[in-house]
Amino acid sequence: MSILQTDIKFVPGVGPKRAEILNKEINLFTVGDLLRWYPYRYIDRSRIYYIHEIDNSMAYIQLKGRITAFESFGEGRRRRLVAHFTDGTGFVDLVWFQGIRFIEGKYKLNQEYVVFGKPTLFNGKWNIAHPDIDPFMNESDRPEGLMAMYNTTEKMKNHYLNSRAMQKIIDNAFGLIKERLPETLSSDVVKEVKLMPFHDALENIHFPKSAPLLRDAEYRLKFEELFYIQLNIVRYASERKGKLNGFIFRRVGDHLNSFYKQKLPFPLTNAQKRVIKEIRKDTASGKQMNRLLQGDVGSGKTLVAIMCMLIALDNGYQSCLMAPTEILASQHLETFSEMLSGMDLRVELLTGSTKKKERDEIHAGLQSGEVDILIGTHALIEDTVQFNNLGFVVIDEQHRFGVAQRAKLWTKNNQPPHVLVMTATPIPRTLAMTVYGDLDVSVIDELPPGRKPVQTLHRYDKKRGALYEFIREQIRVGRQAYIVYPLIEESEKLDLKNLEEGYLHVKEAFPEFNVCKMHGRMKPAEKDEVMRRFVVNEAQIMVSTTVIEVGVNVPNASVMVIESAQRFGLSQLHQLRGRVGRGADQSYCVLITPYEISSDTRKRMEIMTESNDGFVIAEADLKLRGPGDLEGTQQSGIPFDLRIADLVKDSNILYLTREIAEDLIEKDPKLEQPEHLVLKQQLGRLGGNRYEWGRIS
Ligand code: ADP
Ligand code: MG
Repeated sequence: MSILQTDIKFVPGVGPKRAEILNKEINLFTVGDLLRWYPYRYIDRSRIYYIHEIDNSMAYIQLKGRITAFESFGEGRRRRLVAHFTDGTGFVDLVWFQGIRFIEGKYKLNQEYVVFGKPTLFNGKWNIAHPDIDPFMNESDRPEGLMAMYNTTEKMKNHYLNSRAMQKIIDNAFGLIKERLPETLSSDVVKEVKLMPFHDALENIHFPKSAPLLRDAEYRLKFEELFYIQLNIVRYASERKGKLNGFIFRRVGDHLNSFYKQKLPFPLTNAQKRVIKEIRKDTASGKQMNRLLQGDVGSGKTLVAIMCMLIALDNGYQSCLMAPTEILASQHLETFSEMLSGMDLRVELLTGSTKKKERDEIHAGLQSGEVDILIGTHALIEDTVQFNNLGFVVIDEQHRFGVAQRAKLWTKNNQPPHVLVMTATPIPRTLAMTVYGDLDVSVIDELPPGRKPVQTLHRYDKKRGALYEFIREQIRVGRQAYIVYPLIEESEKLDLKNLEEGYLHVKEAFPEFNVCKMHGRMKPAEKDEVMRRFVVNEAQIMVSTTVIEVGVNVPNASVMVIESAQRFGLSQLHQLRGRVGRGADQSYCVLITPYEISSDTRKRMEIMTESNDGFVIAEADLKLRGPGDLEGTQQSGIPFDLRIADLVKDSNILYLTREIAEDLIEKDPKLEQPEHLVLKQQLGRLGGNRYEWGRIS
């Protein structure tokens, strides 16, 4: 058995009791686990400060000086020992609340000490509670420059497992290691990337010999962590591509040509052209396409979908488009009917509320091949829906569809159709590469020309008068407004504006206008009716929950008010904002919060008022919340646990690991070369195919 598999309890300083705490609290079971419990930061102990230099920004400080007097306060358990410490530039109080008897005997007056700790200002004086104190020796004998700090839990601290104790235990674990630890990457990779060997990296991550060596160690361990994620994805993708054949769309025919020449009302943006080219290449390759199309709200994804469907049609295949809600599905039908009017093809809409007779007709038309394009909701993946020759599937706003639902589509033809997943929730590239690993990604990173960016404002909820006046002005010149509330039922705990209450309030505030109301629990027919009234401007204000978040398109609406905006995540705010700014007029988004908000919320509001770019917002979201909370990944959770790499900061390392993994799999798809054995073993240890859920087919 390798030393790395040795039970942690055998490490000197651990023992059965502490081992149990380490098991339970931070999941450490073996020496290997312990050595991979990486520090979260380092403190520079090479520099000694003067007391007069101390300021609030210093998390830790190191001083050199002497104790001039001890003083004791209080009795029994409330006793406190203070040592007055000076270096000639000022005074600091060193304070102890525990272990006082031990301290009193240990340190002497008027002897040179090096003191290390966290300075806090108390009653106008600097204090350091429970400092580390060492006698001052000559310069060369002092502790090494960088000291590792470890995360610990409350329970660990109660058992004296603080950061310093963890460092000691890790040092003891190294004491057990008699031979150099074997390399965990294959030698070709280590050589190509010039990585520090595994053994040295582990040593330097815990006990850095110098700042450059620490950098190399960090690089090596981050690389390794990201590399195995990518290797797994790339290997999996290559396997899948080897297996799944796809329909071949050889030609561009009449439908696309006449649409392009006669119907297209505007020139395509460069980004749209590029994406269509990417899709054409995939669909001509003979392999099944699995592509994620990311593009900000209003970037023109629907048009891309339409054109691809026409290509499918020109090659004799049917297509379908799945939308997450009935509102969206019917809006898509309208768009399609308008764009494709007068062309020789048949488009149908199928949702849960399609009447039986109509439904039967559509089913028949699909089977006979008379229906060319089907638009719908979940209803179209029901078993009763049979196609004649389904070749191309578009899924709009992908994060609302589960993997299982999508998988049902593959059974609708003898070979799986090409799949294009469209999302307006931009996913930072790093995250897309890890979470949606084996999907190919296309990005529309350009808006059609002439759009005026939405102007975003942050206002406090006490100041509604001016806002209402502003809405009134907008409506008087012909515009419309949305007012969005986060919940539809009053929750006692969260002091939120209730939709119903809000609706009554808005009606009262705007007696001269028609106000309509929409929420998720309404029947589809009711929703359609409300939507219709708003679209034709029979109602000027729509009070709503987030059901309007995705895709709703009313170009005349120019104001989006979001109540209790602190309750929404950045991506959601951005989605909601995307409902306005769709016409030629200047549009506005007003974020309303209470006056008292957390600094995190304030930051979110700032990002929203400063940026209109969905990718910038997604990156910011990733930074603020970490990958686990990001929309689109929530439903499945991040399938891996990053210990040292950071998807935000280490994107360059990530891109490199992807490249290296791709090269490697190209040369040795099954990892059969002897020198790659270690890669296979490590992949196995890391849990093989855990990332499968990220695939689409
Ligand atoms: P989304 O990416 O949010 O689905 P849509 O496809 O709904 O965006 O497009 C938003 C609006 O932009 C639509 O009204 C569409 O007709 C228009 N549009 C799309 N492409 C272009 C273009 N190249 N030039 C001008 N307008 C465009
Ligand atoms: Mg859309």
